Amino acid sequence: MSKTLLLDLTRPQLQDLMKSWGEPAYRGKQIYDWLHRNLVTDPAQMTNLPKALRERLAAETLINPLELIVQVDDEAGETRKALFRLPDGATIEVVLMLYDKRRTVCISTQVGCGIGCPFCATGLGGLVRNLSPGEIIAQVHWFERWLRQDQPDSEGLALTRPSRVTNIVVMGMGEPLANYDATMQALRAIADPKTFSLSARNITLSTSGLIPKIDQLAEEQFPIRLAVSLHAPTDRLRNKLVPINKRYGLNALMAALQRYRAKTHRRVTFEYAMMRGINDAVEQAHLLADLLLPLKNAHVNLIPLNPTPGSPYQPSDREAVRHFQQALEDAGITTTVRLRRGVEISAGCGQLRQAKQQPDVLKFIHEP
Ligand code: SAH
Ligand code: SF4
Repeated sequence: MSKTLLLDLTRPQLQDLMKSWGEPAYRGKQIYDWLHRNLVTDPAQMTNLPKALRERLAAETLINPLELIVQVDDEAGETRKALFRLPDGATIEVVLMLYDKRRTVCISTQVGCGIGCPFCATGLGGLVRNLSPGEIIAQVHWFERWLRQDQPDSEGLALTRPSRVTNIVVMGMGEPLANYDATMQALRAIADPKTFSLSARNITLSTSGLIPKIDQLAEEQFPIRLAVSLHAPTDRLRNKLVPINKRYGLNALMAALQRYRAKTHRRVTFEYAMMRGINDAVEQAHLLADLLLPLKNAHVNLIPLNPTPGSPYQPSDREAVRHFQQALEDAGITTTVRLRRGVEISAGCGQLRQAKQQPDVLKFIHEP
């Protein structure tokens, strides 16, 4: 019998579990606090619970489902990438990025991904399974626990501890809106002002564009930020690069984002991974501007592609990125060029996991 993952349970569900064990419901609240505020990993640390209850929790439940396989820092000490094994043997990636004063955790929502973008390491292997809410929450807790430690030496990363996670990007493995309920439950737990209390405004969810779920997200009273992975200005090209486009094409996507904006008054960011000779011509920047201008206030994040072993796509060169960016700016679209840090440690969506599965590319990784 597999153990109940305590982080999968909402506060009311934990209270129900306690009642079913013949305990008072308030024990559920106490345990929820230990888990989500104090981030304990062992019931023995829950000192306000009776010993018998702590023992039963230890016997029948699990708190931390993540077992660290390998952890890799980039040379500059700005990125730490961790590969974890889950209880069923599946593996996922989580990344901590230091950026200005931010400490951002990039989390995964699925093992693999079913969308199948051909430039993405996660997409190459297809979908294995959805992550549960607790498996998503645990990724944030893992880095938060490390950051909270009072240590003068931060083991290679350029920061001082104790510290805290300030931002979350849902940009790791998987399509978050294809695992909607678990992802929302996890993000709501992270943003819960009574426990972990990370501001929803500091959470960015990235999607390949699942229209019905974008509409659902617009209805939530939950002000997280939305990013859309565009990568192409025409249906013809996007059908190839982001295959969900064959189902939810650009016109329908833009209409959904208009509805999202009207409903939430929040601006949408677009991600555009720049691939040499594929989507980086100035004419394509003009088409992109035409597509995005009606949305008002759209912002484009230009990301030089992080080449994935086994995929033919290559990053655009600097000049191409500069011209593309200039064309967008001239048309009145704001842009940022986000340098993907740690290319040398195969930081990129799903790439560490891929490297571990194909030992011939392990030479790109320096194990600690
Ligand atoms: N599935 C969601 C979120 C995870 S991917 C999505 O696609 O939006 C997060 C971002 O990383 C997406 O914009 C994705 O297109 C991008 N990405 C994936 N592989 C990449 C690579 N090799 N180089 C640069 N960006 C990549
Ligand atoms: Fe899935 Fe996003 Fe990778 Fe596409 S880019 S395969 S949607 S994880």
